[in-house]
Amino acid sequence: MKYRHENILAQEINLPPGKVVCVGRNYLDHIQELNNSVPEQALLFIKPSTALTHLSSPVYIPKTLGCCDNEIEIAVLIRHALKNATPKQAQEAIWGYGLALDLTLRDLQSTLKSQGHPWERSKAFDASCPISGFVAEQELKRADPLHFSLYVNQQLRQKGSSCDMMRDIVSLLVEISQCFTLLPGDIVITGTPKGVSALHAGDQLTISLDGHFSISTEVV
Ligand code: ZN
Repeated sequence: MKYRHENILAQEINLPPGKVVCVGRNYLDHIQELNNSVPEQALLFIKPSTALTHLSSPVYIPKTLGCCDNEIEIAVLIRHALKNATPKQAQEAIWGYGLALDLTLRDLQSTLKSQGHPWERSKAFDASCPISGFVAEQELKRADPLHFSLYVNQQLRQKGSSCDMMRDIVSLLVEISQCFTLLPGDIVITGTPKGVSALHAGDQLTISLDGHFSISTEVV
């Protein structure tokens, strides 16, 4: 797969798809809906590049592993390597923004958590991270928040804004780069607001970044 521009149709972005660094528990309303605690440090996990697929294709969910929840999140595409970055370096390393689904096998995740095991089987499986194309950073007004939504079968399921994040995007990149070097072509997905719930085959999804794009797809 190749990254695509969202607003220049069919044009590819010349960055190699890399790892996806994921942030958990970054919106208070979602922490409360799952009765989780507020993390003292950013809660981080990684999906491999094999988790990436395009949201414009149907969204495939595993059928035999319990429920698979939607988590819609802002995705940040990285263009410069970041290691122990300053806020200025982090800001300058952003190629642009898109949206991702952090597909989560919630039953399996609960079992793994209760056993004290890692989450990867529930979070990092093939095609567990469908992504949109990306809008270039310079096409956005930096001070403006990013508003996004997920509709399932024409019903609003999740809605969020970058201004509701407990840790903002630049702070996340700074903190992540102290732990994992970010490389050109890596993605950071920045946490989900409330509204996570099971997806089913046949569900029609509409995923929108307000003012920029809207994508419709189907769960299979
Ligand atoms: Zn997530």
